[in-house]
Amino acid sequence: MYLSSRQQWDVELLLQEKEERCEACGSTDLRAGEDARSYFGGGAAVAVWCPNIEDEAHAGGVGLKWYYSLTAEEARRIGLA
Ligand SMILES: [Zn+2]
Repeated sequence: MYLSSRQQWDVELLLQEKEERCEACGSTDLRAGEDARSYFGGGAAVAVWCPNIEDEAHAGGVGLKWYYSLTAEEARRIGLA
């Protein structure tokens, strides 16, 4: 399943609202990727990446991309359920 650019924008807005941070460098400037998986029974996981690749916390490309879990309600808001 792939997110539209509008849905990616909605994910980024949600991340900002929840003040989510990159676990490696602490940046709040996170970007949504295109990839998403919806879970049976509600909820979803969306690809998130950190554009702060220059930070030494990411040396060697560590921790630049991960999957962020959405609750069923959040997934509905983004149109994934
Ligand atoms: Zn980072």
